[in-house]
Amino acid sequence: MDNGAKLKLLGEGARFDVSCPSTIAPQTALADGPGSIYEALSSDGKRVRLLKVLLSNACRHDCLYCATRCSRDIPRASFRPEELARLTTELAQAGMISGLFLSSGIVGDADSTMARMIETVELLRHKHNFRGYVHLKLLPGVSEAAVHTAVGLADRLSINLEAPGPERLTAICPGKSYERDLLRTLRWARGMIAPGQVRSGLTTQFVVGAAGESDLEIMQTTARLTAEIGLARTYYSGFRPVENTPLDGRDPTPPAREHRLYQAEFLMRVYGFRLDELVFEDDGMLPLDRDPKMAAALANQDQFPVEVNEAERWQLLRVPGIGPTGAERILAVRGKHRLTSLRHLEILGVRTDRARNFVTVGGRYYPREEPAQQLSMGL
Ligand code: SF4
Repeated sequence: MDNGAKLKLLGEGARFDVSCPSTIAPQTALADGPGSIYEALSSDGKRVRLLKVLLSNACRHDCLYCATRCSRDIPRASFRPEELARLTTELAQAGMISGLFLSSGIVGDADSTMARMIETVELLRHKHNFRGYVHLKLLPGVSEAAVHTAVGLADRLSINLEAPGPERLTAICPGKSYERDLLRTLRWARGMIAPGQVRSGLTTQFVVGAAGESDLEIMQTTARLTAEIGLARTYYSGFRPVENTPLDGRDPTPPAREHRLYQAEFLMRVYGFRLDELVFEDDGMLPLDRDPKMAAALANQDQFPVEVNEAERWQLLRVPGIGPTGAERILAVRGKHRLTSLRHLEILGVRTDRARNFVTVGGRYYPREEPAQQLSMGL
């Protein structure tokens, strides 16, 4: 198989690994790329074009939802490290990419596959002088030594937890141990990262809706790992049925569920919400008909309205329509001038169509019947 055909096949295999939330950049290949080039956001907020590819789509595991599971009859291929390093360098020199997102199926044992992934990045860094961004997946079950080498090479490291707990994982990935193969690897990586290494941090990913889990379970695990391991991001990849897998008769996860999970994670990570401030339905799911910040505000109406001239920062951040930038501007301006109208808030970047039911401005209250919902990530 030539390199173009391999790139197509192994780029397709990497499609389900999320390099960026779908709400920030669509998880579709760029039209002018070879089918495996995606946009992602780097830690400093810049858009980077990544070659997203598997080193191999052969795998000894048989995860129920996965397109590359071993019992599925599909063409298999692998890059040799030098082949992929050279191809990445050529695409970078042509200005088509500025980074690599590298994952793989597990051929033989995890360490030997990880060794070939690491060799690819070492060749890129040391032979081809590639200075671009590298997001490297840690394979389930790799050794401490392999994690140590990866920490010295990558800008971002991640390992897919796939499910929020051991029972849920066993239901969809029977060959993996949650504690030994996944959590231990994340903890090793956290313990090894020295200042200046892995600048874009550690991340993980869940496949949402494959194991029958609730949003509450996912957010509980997200909150626990963010506190314990300091995850930079958590990604949520909605389950999509793949032909000729045991789950191919299941419905796909609605994109709205994925979106609500990203919004809820954003509230905890950026706005400082605690897990117990988020609102879940009786079945443990986030409401789909309203964004999580609006749901939290409506569930705690006794805490509103807050007076914008007096509220503390954390109170402002609980108001729908006021984000971190708006809160900072309100705090800065009100030290010098009293805010007296909704127009003042608008000038400071507040979405008053969302905020007006939850604030008073200079003692005046401007409610209207139905405050606006939030569709984008800012809340
Ligand atoms: S380990 Fe599981 S999810 Fe990963 S490639 Fe293999 S079968 Fe797919």
